Amino acid sequence: CGIVAYIGDQDAFPLIIKGLKRLEYRGYDSTGVSVHDHGLKVYKKAGKVADLVAAVEGQKINGTIGIGHTRWATHGEPNDRNAHPHFSANKSLSIIHNGIIENYDTIKEQLLSKGYSFVSDTDTEVLITFIEDIKKQNNVDLEQAVRSALHAVEGAYAIVILDEENPDQLIAARKGSPMVLGIGNKEYFIASDATPIIEYTNEVVYLKDREIAIVNREGFRITNIDDVEQTPYIQKVEMKL
Ligand code: GLU
Repeated sequence: CGIVAYIGDQDAFPLIIKGLKRLEYRGYDSTGVSVHDHGLKVYKKAGKVADLVAAVEGQKINGTIGIGHTRWATHGEPNDRNAHPHFSANKSLSIIHNGIIENYDTIKEQLLSKGYSFVSDTDTEVLITFIEDIKKQNNVDLEQAVRSALHAVEGAYAIVILDEENPDQLIAARKGSPMVLGIGNKEYFIASDATPIIEYTNEVVYLKDREIAIVNREGFRITNIDDVEQTPYIQKVEMKL
């Protein structure tokens, strides 16, 4: 339903929470955030953004890179377990996802027969474990694995992935579900619409279908799922908060 991700110098958690609140108008049933702070951490809960904030009260959540999600359940009832972000099987990756992976059950069968298990009922957890498996089997980097996985996927998605091995990189992709990249000064914002971004920057790139954004602390590039480099069209947005 709602996506907010951040990489830069600021504390990611409060910034992402603020962004998710700006997306509350869309309606949702669960809230969650993953940050990289000496490893991947996930905080998530069925309920409102405020419920998650109350649940983590007193915990120090550090990290200057993170992904956040408000969920509108399509596969699996709304509960803590099915809330995003989801880990891959070995917990080396975390993901947030808007949309529906139509052929997730076929992919899930294949992964189950390879010995993988799942903690949620979501299509999203299947996608991130699929990506982990491709990365291991083919010995390719995450970007390459995401591309291969997305070639095999049917349905609609806007996804952002965090990688345990790479605290300086976000990978985002979309097809059918909207996604915006906000360009700050050595900081970047990703969201499902521009609402959470405009208080930080008015320079945005609307990702196109089948594009992948690789965003790090120094810059970003966009390719399509066939690994063809794309020239980003940077737009100025004027929006009243
Ligand atoms: N299909 C995913 C789920 O049910 C994502 C739903 C959404 O867009 O929030 O968890």
